[in-house]
Amino acid sequence: MSNSEPGFSTLAIHAGAQPDPTTGARATPIYQTTSFVFEDADHAASLFGLKAFGNIYTRIMNPTQAVLEERIAALEGGTAALAAASGHAAQLLVFHAIMRPGDNFISANKLYGGSINQFGHAFKSFDWQVRWCDPEEVGGIEELIDDRTRAIFIESPANPGGTFIDIKAIADIAHKHGIPLIVDNTMASPYLVRPIEHGADLVVHSMTKFIGGHGNSMGGMIVDGGTFDWSASGNYPMLSEPRPEYGGLVLHETFGNFAFAIACRVLGLRDLGPAISPMNAFLLLTGVETLPLRMQRHCDNALEVATWLKNHDKVDWVSYSGLEDDENHAMMKTYSPNGAGAVFTFGLTGGYEAGIKFVEALEIFSHLANIGDTKSLVIHPASTTHRQLSPEQQESAGAGPDVVRLSIGIEDVADIIGDLKQALDRV
Ligand SMILES: *Cc1c(COP(=O)(O)O)cnc(C)c1O
Repeated sequence: MSNSEPGFSTLAIHAGAQPDPTTGARATPIYQTTSFVFEDADHAASLFGLKAFGNIYTRIMNPTQAVLEERIAALEGGTAALAAASGHAAQLLVFHAIMRPGDNFISANKLYGGSINQFGHAFKSFDWQVRWCDPEEVGGIEELIDDRTRAIFIESPANPGGTFIDIKAIADIAHKHGIPLIVDNTMASPYLVRPIEHGADLVVHSMTKFIGGHGNSMGGMIVDGGTFDWSASGNYPMLSEPRPEYGGLVLHETFGNFAFAIACRVLGLRDLGPAISPMNAFLLLTGVETLPLRMQRHCDNALEVATWLKNHDKVDWVSYSGLEDDENHAMMKTYSPNGAGAVFTFGLTGGYEAGIKFVEALEIFSHLANIGDTKSLVIHPASTTHRQLSPEQQESAGAGPDVVRLSIGIEDVADIIGDLKQALDRV
């Protein structure tokens, strides 16, 4: 191997993996086991005391998961990563490490509907308070920060409209106030955007979407950027204070720039338990190998489809930042020069009723609540993913009654457009 840094496509295939040392198996094996045999009592003691790294029990660590973690950390440019059972599990583990009862965090209101529910409802039971901001009004974010604010959370591009957010500007505000910026990079994947390069401290993923890419496995990932000083303020005691269960060990002091990933593993995953299965880790790893190819095809197809829709007389508007005259186009070019992603929204002139008819008339597109599959997907957010939200919340989340969301797959683009055409004819 040469000394030069491998490219993205090479890392997507090789990072974290090697032929199995025992059998020579070339594909990463599915280590379908709950537990791992200790060499002797001393070995067991040092594993349990965090004096040595090693496998104990699959809730906390497993070799198949470990390859996936190392690979995504490499693709995102982070110091370490931790896989979880789903994207929501990853978010829970992140906030569990950061928040104490009574603390708050600021979150973009342009967000995956499930995250709006998790932050606004489930987190309330822990007394973790969310303060919503408009991520496109960067000036309004700072006034929401007080001495109990522990993080800023954004999604870019944001669900469901695919709007690119100014990561760098928001990172600067977070850092001015000594708090980390967390970016949900599910919609872009690291092929399109690497938030840590723009100032994000932590990245979370629903690997259920583009990273796995085939709509067959749930998974989440936390990537530690290694950039944030968890000890400076005293506001992150889980990282900066001695842990009684590990003999008084201080995680940040001991593990330095990958302490956050360790905290999520040895405290969060250990005690809350949302581990990913080895089988799902294997399927997601297989997906990652083709991430660059798939993502580029998603982007190329989506741009053609958006351009075609824009010229259709039953379409009121198309919001796709890949279109040159889109108001978000310059932001997209700054953060995502390879393309604008697969997901975008448009409005039908016929409103709510037309939206429902259209969705039902499609044949290649599947009507379901997911994005990031090889297959083209469609949903009407106001009647599905965003239906629990108030009309005002729906509007501010870009999910008004006339909005249809597409996740463009990697089929032949002529067939995708043909399907949209026949469905529009029937509206
Ligand atoms: C799907 C999704 C999530 C939640 O992930 P799950 O794997 O479904 O738990 C979080 N954020 C975004 C942007 C998503 O699309």
